[in-house]
Amino acid sequence: MTNNNDAKTKDWRPATKLVRGGLERSHHGEVSEALYMTQAYAYDSAEQAEQSFLGEVDHYVYSRYGNPTVTMFEERLRLLEGSTHCVSLASGMAAVFCALASQLKTGDRVVASTALFGACFHILANILPTWGIKTEFVDGTDLEAWEKALSTPAQAIFLETPSNPTLEILDIQAISDLAHKAGAKVIVDNVFATPILQRPLQLGADIVTYSATKHIDGQGRSLGGAVLSNDAHFMEKQLTPFYRNTGPSLSPFNAWTLLKGLETLDIRVDRQCQNALDIATFLEQLGSIERVNYPGLKSHGQYDLAMSQMSGRGSTVISFEVKGGKAAAFKTINALKIIDIANNLGDVKSLITHPATTTHQRLSDDERAAMGIRENLVRLSVGIEDVLDLKDDLAQALPE
Ligand SMILES: *Cc1c(COP(=O)(O)O)cnc(C)c1O
Repeated sequence: MTNNNDAKTKDWRPATKLVRGGLERSHHGEVSEALYMTQAYAYDSAEQAEQSFLGEVDHYVYSRYGNPTVTMFEERLRLLEGSTHCVSLASGMAAVFCALASQLKTGDRVVASTALFGACFHILANILPTWGIKTEFVDGTDLEAWEKALSTPAQAIFLETPSNPTLEILDIQAISDLAHKAGAKVIVDNVFATPILQRPLQLGADIVTYSATKHIDGQGRSLGGAVLSNDAHFMEKQLTPFYRNTGPSLSPFNAWTLLKGLETLDIRVDRQCQNALDIATFLEQLGSIERVNYPGLKSHGQYDLAMSQMSGRGSTVISFEVKGGKAAAFKTINALKIIDIANNLGDVKSLITHPATTTHQRLSDDERAAMGIRENLVRLSVGIEDVLDLKDDLAQALPE
């Protein structure tokens, strides 16, 4: 649907765009965004139906293609990211899969960082090869490895930064420059940084994907995903026909919860980052902790890059190694009274997980070792609770 949202919000700062961007009120003038739970749309005449299908008039035709509540969500997110296009989908994985599969064909080659969300790795390592699309994996922090892999032509590169669960930072600008020289499109999975901290399109990336399930909902309710880009050919001629004909469309109900989630995204992420820095600083001083991975700490190997690439903040997730191996890590997790054991992240509730036995269980010992995932590593997604309570909870749970 055409609109004048860009002109209307041109001078607005991000927090205002998050509350008001993309709002389309009906004739009732509802203050809160309407939830249009409808599959189809009635036409005034057969002629109007014909023109709608021809794209000559602005009229929704079917909710697999588009829906007014879904459009409001897409517009709000698009205005925040500052892109020309946004397509929302049923989950983060639908977004990643469609971003890759809609533009790749047999014989194409992808280069990707090894430290990826498990399902993204599965698509690249196991699904796409059955269609004759090969992926070469590299250590994402090693620019020479990218350069070497990109000395052979590639059609796309895929990366995630900060990486999960070791919070390594990949240099989006430098990697994008290398990729473009090789003729490859750059796809960044921006879930960990969120659009509040990091804007990959401004750093040279071509396509950004989100799991809206994480910080964008942020309150543990809905699955959702999105793909954003300034590449009109990719968005209109490749991605759009792909998702419309294969069906991973976002439900209007989930779009509505995600739309309301966006309203508070920046204040939640801000508080989560503050809490995370406070907790990371606290953990680093404890004798029971062997190592803390947090990009907002000066001790992080890529602190300067993290600060310049992520708006001066270190993200909402911390990982740390507990002295005493897996047993000590499990004992700590089990002793927590406030922080929940759950493998989700970006939630207002603080959540803790043991990557080696959950999210990264399927990897071999060697693969885990290469990614720095030790038996004593735990990942903490920091919520918006009072940070003093979170520190008390960790202090009573950790070994002496
Ligand atoms: C959760 C996550 C995904 C997948 O999102 P879903 O909404 O669960 O499908 C992809 N990438 C990253 C980095 C994630 O954290």
